Amino acid sequence: MALGVAYTITGLFKGRSTSTRRARNTSAAPLDFSRLSPDKILTAFETRFAQTGCRIAEDEVPLDGAPASYRSFVYMPNDGGPTFANEMLLDRDGRTDAQVHVSARHEKLHAIQWDHVPSLHASPYNQGSRYVLSPVSWVMATLLTESDAFVKTAWLNAQELKQNYSAALCDQAMTEAVTPMDINANVVDPCQSMKYAATAWYHRFKHKDDPSAPDVTFLDHYVEYAIKAYEESARLNDEGAVGDVQFVRLSREDILAIGSGFGPSIFSRANGTLDDSFTLLPYLRKDLFARLVALEDKFGIGPDANLPTLQDALANDGMSAADYMHASRSFHYTPASSETPSAEQSYETLMR
Ligand SMILES: [Zn+2]
Repeated sequence: MALGVAYTITGLFKGRSTSTRRARNTSAAPLDFSRLSPDKILTAFETRFAQTGCRIAEDEVPLDGAPASYRSFVYMPNDGGPTFANEMLLDRDGRTDAQVHVSARHEKLHAIQWDHVPSLHASPYNQGSRYVLSPVSWVMATLLTESDAFVKTAWLNAQELKQNYSAALCDQAMTEAVTPMDINANVVDPCQSMKYAATAWYHRFKHKDDPSAPDVTFLDHYVEYAIKAYEESARLNDEGAVGDVQFVRLSREDILAIGSGFGPSIFSRANGTLDDSFTLLPYLRKDLFARLVALEDKFGIGPDANLPTLQDALANDGMSAADYMHASRSFHYTPASSETPSAEQSYETLMR
């Protein structure tokens, strides 16, 4: 049991329970995914996941009934220890193999994101980073990482179905928020095909299944998780700790990086530059927008455009992205005493 835990969320569509150091392999030539056979893509994916060092924990139950969830940071491990948890919680109980397989694939993509993108370490949960993404950037990062994980899961499912068709996998893959059908194999440029699927994800999550349902979309649901986690961050509510925090914004490079941890880049145009539509915060429900503004006011943060990026802030402090990632990965929390007052810690989670 640990206090202050950051999870990613999966499998909420239609209420179902499915679910850097700059990339350490950047010295290798980038893979040309349009030329790789499905089996080579699937093998390269597992190899890339293995490089993240993510532990698979089957002794803890993921939150919210999902078969799997990725845990990035633990704010204060109970008896001290590393704060970069970097583990996938997996629950096979009552699940089909296909459910577990697809859900785990989604979470592996999150592990690759946190291994690849330094700005994801600028998390409200990470006491190993004095830089923290602004509230707006945190919401953006949440949506972008989910979009990437859903799209790439659908793409990998499509590869596996081509390679080794199974009806069980097909049925499961077709229940996901993005399905193999969304990956248009007729588009010559694989990035273009992925971008369509990412856009489909946003549109699908912005609409309600039932027009008479309360005015809450799944996108709102994700946005609210992100805002609530920020509001409840123990660190940002700790007057002693928050003084050291420097707020930063998500950069265009960060967004491209989130979409290119593995597989064709999903937020870029054919020439590799960022598609501006992915730099915009989606239209938010009024109450959620008000909560974001309240957070900016609370921390005295102006518009995101006025904030430095993480890259700017690191350069200003004479630190490389590689050193920043290394420090974040290896940060160790040591409790001041064995009786840390629990009243000073709130339980942070994206799930409630
Ligand atoms: Zn997810």
